[in-house]
Amino acid sequence: MYPRLEIDMKKLKSNVNNVLEVAEKNNIEIVGVVKAVNGIREIVEVLIECGIKTIASSRLSQLRLIKEINPNINTYDLRIPMISEVDELVECADISLNSNLEILEKLNEAAKNQNKKHNVILMLECGDLREGIYNEDEMLDIASTVENKLDNLNLMGVGTNLGCYGSIMPTPEKMNELIGKARKIEEKIGRKLDVVSGAANTAFPMVARGKLPDGITQMRFGDCFYVSDLDECFNYVMFDEDQESFKLQAEIIEIYDKPSHPIGEIAVDAFGNKKEYVDKGIRKRALIAVGRQDIGDCMHLRPLDKKLEIMGGSSDHTILDITDCDKEYKIGDIIEFYLMYENLLMSCQSEYIEKKFIY
Ligand SMILES: *Cc1c(COP(=O)(O)O)cnc(C)c1O
Repeated sequence: MYPRLEIDMKKLKSNVNNVLEVAEKNNIEIVGVVKAVNGIREIVEVLIECGIKTIASSRLSQLRLIKEINPNINTYDLRIPMISEVDELVECADISLNSNLEILEKLNEAAKNQNKKHNVILMLECGDLREGIYNEDEMLDIASTVENKLDNLNLMGVGTNLGCYGSIMPTPEKMNELIGKARKIEEKIGRKLDVVSGAANTAFPMVARGKLPDGITQMRFGDCFYVSDLDECFNYVMFDEDQESFKLQAEIIEIYDKPSHPIGEIAVDAFGNKKEYVDKGIRKRALIAVGRQDIGDCMHLRPLDKKLEIMGGSSDHTILDITDCDKEYKIGDIIEFYLMYENLLMSCQSEYIEKKFIY
């Protein structure tokens, strides 16, 4: 069945182990993030086999599954909890990232009702402008309230998020800013924090290059286990293409020579976008049966056949220019791609894409 996602478990395992080796050299704990792969059971099992003790997601159903697979794994909720989910969260997550007192109070109540002590990490704003406490006085107040008044919460530490909304690079300076904030909280509450959680994937090159300041104890990594897509921006190759463990396969359903510029009055595409079309004359075009509903933005796909060009697509189709390819493609042939983050995220959760595990 196609479209299909082929997942090479041996390569995946070796990519995870390489990340863990770098982490060990730098004396940091790795929280293994599975949200980009929809918490797929087989992948969670690989992370556990590799020795990862704490596994994170933003979706509670995935955390619940992790607990089912192995109740000894610490589950870690990445998204600030919704008030409407605090009861369920306390049930299936051991640790959660938080940024405000309203929700922390609700979490504390939920933990009290379940006779549990729930671990929290306070997210601090360091410039990427997604979640996190911005004002330092508020930060100290919230930390001290959690420490002294919310008896069913354990203030485990602090963290920050970079490189997501604001595209801010995780640098040693940003890490030192976070460590500085952690020290102020420690002074206020009169004890050391267990966790200073630096950043996500985009911080891997900094860690690998030995530039991570002392004082960061933890990183939350997922993407860098799964795809090597840091190359362009971060000038860092996670692993070579032949070590990619995820491969998308889709089937050709039409091949025709057609003009490259649409014919008629140009309005907007299926998603309401105004687009520019380049006229390259008549080209050989192949249509494959996979689209934005399955993979998100098809322009992020990385074809294995380097002579093939992605022209665009719509919900169910992706259009390829195969004029310059050496291979004589025919209808029914399978085209293969490596993925970027968005394609991985979408294809792992798509019920229309078969997952094939290769052992
Ligand atoms: C998503 C996320 C990460 C990293 O996850 P990836 O899937 O590897 O990108 C880390 N921290 C937080 C808070 C996140 O939301």
